[in-house]
Amino acid sequence: MRFDVITIFPDFFAGVFEHGIVRRARSEGLVTIEAQDLRAFTRDKHRTVDDRPFGGGEGMVLKPEPLARALASLGIEPRTSSPALAPTARKDGACKAERPEGLSVILLSAQGRPFTQAVARELACLERIVLLCGRYEGVDERISDLYCDMELSIGDYVLSGGELAAAVVIDAVMRLVPGVLGNEASSEFESFGAPDAEIGANRKGLPRSQHGAGGLLDYPHYTRPAEFEGLRVPEVLLNGDHRQIRRWRREQQLRKTLLNRPDLLERAVLSAEDRELLRTIRARQ
Ligand code: SAM
Repeated sequence: MRFDVITIFPDFFAGVFEHGIVRRARSEGLVTIEAQDLRAFTRDKHRTVDDRPFGGGEGMVLKPEPLARALASLGIEPRTSSPALAPTARKDGACKAERPEGLSVILLSAQGRPFTQAVARELACLERIVLLCGRYEGVDERISDLYCDMELSIGDYVLSGGELAAAVVIDAVMRLVPGVLGNEASSEFESFGAPDAEIGANRKGLPRSQHGAGGLLDYPHYTRPAEFEGLRVPEVLLNGDHRQIRRWRREQQLRKTLLNRPDLLERAVLSAEDRELLRTIRARQ
């Protein structure tokens, strides 16, 4: 899988992807990440990438021409019909047919669709992603209209630039690329893991809630020593009874999700046993 990031700060990415799983995935050729310097696509001696906003107001806006040239250098041309010109065409997919299959152009923006694990799973199916990093007040809207398949926001707060957001998206997506995590199942078993129904028929036969986080948060993890600062590891994890351990972990997932992210419970796939556990947890509260 290849990621290209268009940015005015290409050096930002020099160290970010030099560690752990990303480093290994890059060195094994599973993932390629290239930062493209937006200033290299300017044509004036000051290498100007921004200008004042039409209509007045604070701040500067990233100009469209250098961004368009940077995209052209990656083989990406404007759409023949922009969503702005064709009201029926929408950024969330209706225009995707105009792009080569497996490619998506994404603008990082606080106004974008929320980036979630489900979106990361969708993106991990692509072969190539081009990420545009805004700065200042943002990017001339015509770039989004003409080139972008989606705008993504990494949270309800405003960053000073799209670089951190691009790094977050790349990290979350690339670890879902087949072969990047040592154990293929491990991304199913963590927080926001796909609902059981999405995981696939090959896991039939395993009791529900033994596989996949089912859209819930992860359960607590412990390692040696069995006692630390007077706190003992829950006894159930030491007794080797895998049925009890599974039930305890599922209960903990439900408890943590209820406490920190009750919104996830509304969308989660819950078994009869899950609902029974939830009733017990709620009764204890
Ligand atoms: N005027 C914009 C607004 O109010 O939505 C904020 C611009 S912000 C200072 C500069 C750039 O940071 C944006 O163009 C975008 O690329 C990036 N950015 C800021 N917050 C973001 C977020 N929550 N998710 C993704 N990108 C973000």
